[in-house]
Amino acid sequence: MKKYIYGIDVGGTTVKIGLFNLTGELLKKWEIHTKTENKGEAILSDIYNSIKNNDIKLNEVLGYGFAIPCQVVDGIILNGVNIDWEGYELKKIFSKLVNNNNIYIENDANVAALGETWRGAGSAFENSAMITVGTGVGGGIVVGSKVVEGVHGSGGEIGHIRVIHENGLRCNCGNTGCLETVSSAPAIKTAFNSLLHSGKYDSILKDTKNISVKMIFAAAKEGDLLCLEVIDKTAYYLGYACQILSVITNPNVIIIGGGVSNAGPFFIDKIRKNFMEISFETVKDTLIVQATLGNDAGIYGAAALVIND
Ligand SMILES: [Zn+2]
Repeated sequence: MKKYIYGIDVGGTTVKIGLFNLTGELLKKWEIHTKTENKGEAILSDIYNSIKNNDIKLNEVLGYGFAIPCQVVDGIILNGVNIDWEGYELKKIFSKLVNNNNIYIENDANVAALGETWRGAGSAFENSAMITVGTGVGGGIVVGSKVVEGVHGSGGEIGHIRVIHENGLRCNCGNTGCLETVSSAPAIKTAFNSLLHSGKYDSILKDTKNISVKMIFAAAKEGDLLCLEVIDKTAYYLGYACQILSVITNPNVIIIGGGVSNAGPFFIDKIRKNFMEISFETVKDTLIVQATLGNDAGIYGAAALVIND
């Protein structure tokens, strides 16, 4: 009798493990250290040993879903960041360890989008897009409860939508003017500094050392004109990206996640306002909401890979 699912989110420093029942309720979660050395060869046996110590019988487990920091197409691991698993036979190796063939793997950003859509901000919709705004800008697209991988695993690379067409800043991907260059946390700080140096506005933060994005949002909420212009610009570009996403897959909901989304309704409302100004008539009802699962989005999404199959 199958009763459980494991959702496993493999990150560069920790592996998050969630135990779920078949209705998708999180029963227990914990973390172990990620040993990335020697091409991460110890990671799967560490996960297995950690699961084995649980009270659950392995023959009661329906399946195991993995979110991994690599691009994945049809269960094959392509290039990755943080863990060098290119070509690694994760499914084969782990299915031998746990004696279960129901092993699912997907890219972590795509899995987070699936998790949020299934049990987080997506309110159990089946069609969504998620934009994760943090140190970088990532995302995922979910259609019919399945993530869109694309031919090279680059489906949902929302941070690399080109939004500045002339004289854009250089992006980590090598191109210029990507969404990531104008809306990531480092981009917000860069925009603050260059506007401050332009002398256009005074700011309550002008003599503050080590400015954080949180401080820029707080000052904007207090009406600081310089910070408001920085945040309004960021929201403008995110609203523009939402407009593009809304007419590509016409999702029920667009979810804004990542550290920068913690700015809350003040920021989400600005993104929605920009979206509404330019959105196509029949998709104006697209919801734009803040993510709710935080760091648990990955384990939820990984469990959803098993349940949705
Ligand atoms: Zn880029």
